[in-house]
Amino acid sequence: MSTVEMPIKALPFEPDARVTILTGAGASADSGVPTFRDPGGLWRRIDPNTIATARGFFADPVRGWALYHELRTHVRACEPNAAHHAISAFQAEHRGVVRLITQNVDGLHLRAGARELIEIHGNLFHTRCGDETCDLAPFFDERPEAATDHRCPSCGGVLRPDVVWFGEPNDLELEREVSEALASCDWYLAIGTSGTVYPAALYARFAKKNGAQTVIVNLELPENAGDFDLHYTGRAAEVVPILLGRP
Ligand SMILES: [Zn+2]
Repeated sequence: MSTVEMPIKALPFEPDARVTILTGAGASADSGVPTFRDPGGLWRRIDPNTIATARGFFADPVRGWALYHELRTHVRACEPNAAHHAISAFQAEHRGVVRLITQNVDGLHLRAGARELIEIHGNLFHTRCGDETCDLAPFFDERPEAATDHRCPSCGGVLRPDVVWFGEPNDLELEREVSEALASCDWYLAIGTSGTVYPAALYARFAKKNGAQTVIVNLELPENAGDFDLHYTGRAAEVVPILLGRP
């Protein structure tokens, strides 16, 4: 089936339809969140290689944590936008299961009240030990000293942000949950993601193969547009509330 550009109006969800939503950087763009993958803003000054790869970060954890502290401060000042709020309201009110997967680490879905959320690239505000064998559990990090104190309280190793860096695999357990959400949905919506980053690039194809109606909302047509039945061009904060019946 060819991709169809549709007039923007509420999607015809069956009352108990199971819906799985994936959000990417475009969903947070209207909140002013800088991302690793969209160079600009903060990233004109900070080389992503120094804090978005294990090698770069652990080469100088003091510098790494200073930059993450700056990033956390910046993102904490951002607010969820109309797309985040529409998705949360849809999750709360729709009768069928609505699962939400996000590639974003900014925590804005949680601040907008999202439930059934899978953060496949982690959460910027969570910290964990850099040693995979350490027993320290990841924790929500509001320590004022986080910018300067990077020692693990359990093993004395180096703490790191609990996010997935370039070159690192997604968490296997989370990927299993994602597969389940994709295999068992009637509708699959990709919002604000070019769909070219693996494994997310395969999600639409997998959902479609399992019988889901597939929808994309993005600023431009992605390379894998053929995996989507419906295509909407525009900003997530403008388009998503209308599609979810919450303009
Ligand atoms: Zn440790």
